[in-house]
Amino acid sequence: MTSPLELPGWRHVYSGKVRDLYVPDGAEDAASADRMLVVASDRVSAFDHVLSPGIPGKGVLLTTLSLWWFDRLAGADGGRSIPNHLAASHVLTLGMDGEPNTHDDLRSLIPDEVAGRAMVVKSLDMQPIECVVRGYLTGSGWAEYRENATVCGIPLPAGLNNGDRLPEPIYTPAFKAPMGEHDENITFERSIELVGAERATELRDLSLEIYGRAARTAEKRGLILADTKFEFGVDGEGVMTLADEVLTSDSSRYWDAAAWASGTTPEERMASFDKQIVRDWLSANWDKQGEPPALPDGIVERTAERYRELLERLASA
Ligand code: ATP
Ligand code: MG
Repeated sequence: MTSPLELPGWRHVYSGKVRDLYVPDGAEDAASADRMLVVASDRVSAFDHVLSPGIPGKGVLLTTLSLWWFDRLAGADGGRSIPNHLAASHVLTLGMDGEPNTHDDLRSLIPDEVAGRAMVVKSLDMQPIECVVRGYLTGSGWAEYRENATVCGIPLPAGLNNGDRLPEPIYTPAFKAPMGEHDENITFERSIELVGAERATELRDLSLEIYGRAARTAEKRGLILADTKFEFGVDGEGVMTLADEVLTSDSSRYWDAAAWASGTTPEERMASFDKQIVRDWLSANWDKQGEPPALPDGIVERTAERYRELLERLASA
């Protein structure tokens, strides 16, 4: 992995698979800092490995998508305002090139090197749960369903196929594994053991609400939001706050609604705007032992193109 950038005013404290986190110069660590800078890189990960090369422009695209959705969920979609971790409004003017413009006071905090792919956020007490909502059956949900007709312990009707719409969206939490380990699907009861009944219920209800709103927004643009993952943290006032990236093509599966309706094979139905292209290529060209092979140029280009297309379809409508 390339070493993190030196950024004026900020000190690097952590690198995840995709993002680099910074605290203000002088702050001890993320826990004691009130603000953080989250910088999205062009790194792409699949099956818990960071792949090479990265996808050019991905950091900007995913940050732009996140900011666009934070804005929708703050009320631009007509719903109530969901508390999010942005330290101030990152006002957006989205051109067709997807270049975001940030507010003046934020612009002075966001170093030029990372403009467009950084967010200034409140440092939160992150909950150890990945809050997954599925409206459709695929991925690890489909794998579990084939074994015992459940997803995260939730019984589902018999006879569903890969890519089918579920009778209603379901909340299927995962335990956020420590760095380098696989996240593990858990039952709602297990999430209560991890964070307590009150928080577990709040996480579930917020996740289902946000999924419902986002799925309706996507539907108006001819897109299916098949599933998505949220992360939440608690702020200084004890408010459960939507954090991390939100409804991006890394954290969500988006399909083309027309292709889903007319397709006859799973491949045709699940024409995706996310890194499924990368996952599919890796599955066919790697036995998941040792280091993954380098991605061919064609796969990198097609993935970048699909990411751009998703942003255009969502944000320019
Ligand atoms: P891991 O942390 O296990 O490497 P990851 O590969 O998903 O997971 P990234 O998404 O690259 O990591 O890094 C983002 C990290 O920042 C995540 O660990 C996420 O939980 C954390 N994070 C996001 N928003 C906030 C916030 N407002 N306050 C504190 N931490 C946050
Ligand atoms: Mg992450």
